[in-house]
Amino acid sequence: MSLNTINQYALAIELISLGARTKIVAKETGLSPKIIRQAIEDMHGQSAPSGSLKTSPQFITKSFSRLKEGTLYVFFFRIEKNHDFCRRSINAYRRYSSYIQTVSKKDPIFDFSDAYMIAKWSDSGILKLVRCGHCRSAKLVNNELQQNVCCVCKN
Ligand SMILES: [Zn+2]
Repeated sequence: MSLNTINQYALAIELISLGARTKIVAKETGLSPKIIRQAIEDMHGQSAPSGSLKTSPQFITKSFSRLKEGTLYVFFFRIEKNHDFCRRSINAYRRYSSYIQTVSKKDPIFDFSDAYMIAKWSDSGILKLVRCGHCRSAKLVNNELQQNVCCVCKN
């Protein structure tokens, strides 16, 4: 087995342990969905979730707490130095979830697959981190939702 193949499997195990959907694991590792689904079943003791990935960032803006956690995740994703997209999204997710668990004593709102999509939209510029025009704190906006002040200052 080549080092490349071993790395491919190691990444798959890491993604599956984070709860990544089959589609993401297949895309990032090149392994077949069949092998991945079996690995998910073996690791989590239940079959792989069948729902599809989020297709638009609208679900982030549905509540204040979602927007707040989305902002936090994008912040961690943006400060990740690694060049590899998948590695950055994994590292940022670990930081994000440990932050939420430490500070709020609860599980993060977004699962890894949601966060992975949020990172994609951040990378492609659909989601942007900007400064609130009033308090200068970081806030997350998307192209359709341009507001000058953050949700705290708005109220
Ligand atoms: Zn503000």
